[in-house]
Amino acid sequence: MNQIEDLVERIVDEDPDKVLVQIPEGLRKKATTIQKRLDDKGVESMVSLDPCYGACDIKDTEAEELGCDLLVHVGHTRFSKKERIKTLYFPWHYEREVVPLLEDSLDRLKEFDNIGLISTANFLPLLHEASGFLEEEGFNVFMDEGERTSEGQVLGCDVSAALAVEDSVDCYLYLGSGLFHPLGLLSETDVPVFRLDFEENELEKLDFDRFERQRIVAVEKAKDAETFGILLTTKKGQSKPELASELKERIVECGKKAYMFVMDEVTPGKLAGIDVDCLVNTACPRIAVEHRTDFGATILNPAELEEALSGSNL
Ligand code: SF4
Repeated sequence: MNQIEDLVERIVDEDPDKVLVQIPEGLRKKATTIQKRLDDKGVESMVSLDPCYGACDIKDTEAEELGCDLLVHVGHTRFSKKERIKTLYFPWHYEREVVPLLEDSLDRLKEFDNIGLISTANFLPLLHEASGFLEEEGFNVFMDEGERTSEGQVLGCDVSAALAVEDSVDCYLYLGSGLFHPLGLLSETDVPVFRLDFEENELEKLDFDRFERQRIVAVEKAKDAETFGILLTTKKGQSKPELASELKERIVECGKKAYMFVMDEVTPGKLAGIDVDCLVNTACPRIAVEHRTDFGATILNPAELEEALSGSNL
């Protein structure tokens, strides 16, 4: 059964009257097919086209307001707080030829005996295929569950599954594309991290140097800041109003000014015209790491703010 048929069957099993389907951007081409199949089954559906980066961003409130009795969240696994309506999580699995890519990469891995294998929800079935192949080639492969994730699965903000095997491995091998997920691990370990890149079809050793340099510059600049803009998101799994209040208190305690700004998606465009010396991000932590230079102002995550305030130049 292909994944669309499987998805439709899982939805029909829930016997909903009206469904809101959330899909990641990469699956937009499937949006009309999914709706057509649901129409054929007599299920009214609509597809949300808002950006959707993770299960931290479920549209249960919107679904409820639209009169839906089921939210379907495609592409990620559940770790959210309690949903307002019944929610079905359907982690979409992309198919890739992992063994031929690994065969081409063996030379660069042979200096390591013990490999920690990690990936995202979209490629989890490939972990076992990769693990079987690497073990046949003589490597020891390590995978474990994370605090909110299954075996070998990492999120951009939760690499606990990788850190659980850190003491046993000589390197990590991340299966997937982009930097969004391995960046979290790179910032927390000294163990080498390789990416088997499914876009470029090659193995690459990743490094955090560029991001670490940007981080150091941002913290140094923030030491001279007098006004801070604390950024909050309304995304359910990223919203941290209590943390934002604590940060404001801490900034004011240091004799500086703090303002709070709320938005759904934290983007540079939303901040246009906001006149503060430094932004403090309480939403997805990757925003201030991966997009540090896109905001046109210094932007810090909460731990970096503390670093700046403790060493303030004012
Ligand atoms: S890294 Fe960001 S987008 Fe991904 S799950 Fe965490 S908060 Fe959500």
